[in-house]
Amino acid sequence: MTSSPEKKQAAEIAVVAPLDKILSYAIPAALATQVQVGSRVRVPLGRRQVVGYIMNWAEPGDTPLKEILEVIDPHPLFHARHADFYLRAARYYLYPPGEAVRTALPAGLSALDSKPAVLHDRLYRATTSAGDPRGVRQRELLQFIRAAGQVGLSQLRQQFAVPYAALQRLVELGFLEFVEVERCRDPFAEMAVDVHHALELNPAQQQAVNHVTRLLNAPPAFHPCLLHGVTGSGKTEVYLRAIAAALEQGRKALVLVPEIALTPQLVGRFRSWFRDHGVHLAVLHSGLSDGERYDAWRQVAKGDIDVVIGARSAVFAPLAGLGLIVVDEEHDGSYKQSEGFRYNARDLALMRGQMDEAVVLLGSATPVLTTYQRAMDGQLAYLPLPERTAERPLPGVELVDLAQHDGEGLLSEPLQVALGATLQAGEQALLLLNRRGYAPFLLCHDCGATLRCPNCDITLTYSQVQRSLRCHYCDFRQRPPESCARCSGARMLPEGMGTERLEEEIRHKFPGARVARMDRDTTSRKGSHHRLVTQMAAREIDVLIGTQMIAKGHDFPAVTLVGVLNADTALNLPDFRSAERVFSLLSQVAGRAGRGDRSGRVLIQTYAVDNYALAFVARHDYQGFAALELAQRQALDYPPFGHLVNLVLSGNDETKVCNAANRLSAGLMAGPPDVEVLGPAPCLLARLRNKHRMQILLKGRQREPLRRRLAQLTPLRMHIPAGVVLTVDVDPVDMF
Ligand code: ADP
Ligand code: ZN
Repeated sequence: MTSSPEKKQAAEIAVVAPLDKILSYAIPAALATQVQVGSRVRVPLGRRQVVGYIMNWAEPGDTPLKEILEVIDPHPLFHARHADFYLRAARYYLYPPGEAVRTALPAGLSALDSKPAVLHDRLYRATTSAGDPRGVRQRELLQFIRAAGQVGLSQLRQQFAVPYAALQRLVELGFLEFVEVERCRDPFAEMAVDVHHALELNPAQQQAVNHVTRLLNAPPAFHPCLLHGVTGSGKTEVYLRAIAAALEQGRKALVLVPEIALTPQLVGRFRSWFRDHGVHLAVLHSGLSDGERYDAWRQVAKGDIDVVIGARSAVFAPLAGLGLIVVDEEHDGSYKQSEGFRYNARDLALMRGQMDEAVVLLGSATPVLTTYQRAMDGQLAYLPLPERTAERPLPGVELVDLAQHDGEGLLSEPLQVALGATLQAGEQALLLLNRRGYAPFLLCHDCGATLRCPNCDITLTYSQVQRSLRCHYCDFRQRPPESCARCSGARMLPEGMGTERLEEEIRHKFPGARVARMDRDTTSRKGSHHRLVTQMAAREIDVLIGTQMIAKGHDFPAVTLVGVLNADTALNLPDFRSAERVFSLLSQVAGRAGRGDRSGRVLIQTYAVDNYALAFVARHDYQGFAALELAQRQALDYPPFGHLVNLVLSGNDETKVCNAANRLSAGLMAGPPDVEVLGPAPCLLARLRNKHRMQILLKGRQREPLRRRLAQLTPLRMHIPAGVVLTVDVDPVDMF
């Protein structure tokens, strides 16, 4: 940090407001000793008071500044280097700095009156006074505490049901004394952890570890690496050794995983390993309560934590002395925040690694093509793990032509036979139903009409169990009609593959099988996903049906069959990345098969058996797929050969939105041809939550001209009328 705050007279503050600037405020003498970079403060803004975060010190100018009114928290929430990182991230994504910092920090720290409670605990220990109290129970209690050294009140209460009065009595008698300490909530404290066995690395793992260790042992510098390891190649083990190497150098490590709630196994493995090594670990993710997240964050900011594991937002964790950032499953879409501050945690990990002179290890079996291309260009070190551990083969992948198996139900005959054999052998199966853009709906079998959401203009999803129709976006609901509104026909029937129907069909065809379902509906309750994973690992489930969720990093050794019910829906999404997504999703889900002693088999049902992406999946040929796909991208200047920025205008009034979009795009088109301005066009979801939506897509081969063009946005914003909102998405992932 810069020199002592006592001499500081003014500070640069990022206020929580839609302003693209940092503001300067005077530091009143009374607060001089309290303010630090990273402090959350209350400041006046116009006629309001808002939260701001101190980003830097400032020189008081000629014009008098408004004063900081209050320092809200006792400790700063981050340090100067983090402030620089947050501001750079905000600039990159063209997002107001104060709002960006608010997003970076744990929830609940942006309102003026919100302060997550700090929990306290009382630590009891025996005094030096000898002798014993008279009561038997009091004696026992005292002996226990003497033996333990010191024990917390919360533990005494929960584990031994000790009444507070008994402790109080022992204090009064002079046998016990206590201190108050801050208590940190640990949401994973009760989670079972598996025992870690030290593994002998195979040569490819060893090479990757050696490479990273060498980098970490050298003077700090930015070194991005791609760990390209096929599914089951033992990437986790490489991460653990890399982290150990960073800690060895007295540096800290940050591990990003797609969604903590979906990766309890990975977190469990890390926990047990670090516990054995006496490493202080914090787990940060959005599923925590505000208090839990705040606790963990404070510990990190204080410097008490060596390793942080977290989902997307953990990329902002205020670790100092960072040596290593791991991004596991770097291809995962959840690294991109899809609203508000639309950052991509993988890309920010690279930015942060550069600023902090750290090693950044991106790991995946199916890296995004952008990352792969950079590795091929030599911008990232390429660390391949080409084989599965313990000489296990990758599973055999077969395509099932649905055209030849029409009318056999959701499970084609080949898949049904394979499933029967798997169950017969006492092994497990995973069945993937891609629900993205596909869900059960009601179709009139007389006139072909369907039911759509009156707000969002998308097909309503039908639930047999709840007997309801429901909008996936705005949650509009209605009861299924008896007859068709268009032709009055009485045959409104469910169509499309819902996970519920598949479950029914399997129960019918395999009455003895234990079937479970994993999707957003069955895992919305806290812990329910974890329970399914545990049951699966304990082999209490024979067939697990699910959406993309089941493709994520699980390691179930007894799964020998993976079935993909409907590859076509994903292939047909109107998005330039659909082939890449299908390749990635299907390779990942295929990678769940045959991770144990017995080899695996994958069946993919499709009407498009000649699709190239599926052919490469079947051959486990990432390189081949990448070469072909990258050539196509290059022809159209799509990423990684070009860069995109998507502008979306939305509002209740269609004409206003249209006019604003036209004016904006005309304004942006003014300039040299180094930037292409596409549109405006209606978004794929032209109406969402009752708003009309238009998009303008900017494409440029180089980032610089694109940024220059975007600078024109500031004056152009004046022409956007009230009631129309502009959102800017730099490096968009989904363009719906
Ligand atoms: P990935 O993340 O690459 O898909 P994992 O890290 O989950 O793979 O490892 C797959 C399995 O291989 C795990 O059960 C892990 O314990 C095991 N494993 C990892 N390294 C080795 C090794 N060197 N020898 C034997 N088994 C290993
Ligand atoms: Zn809706």
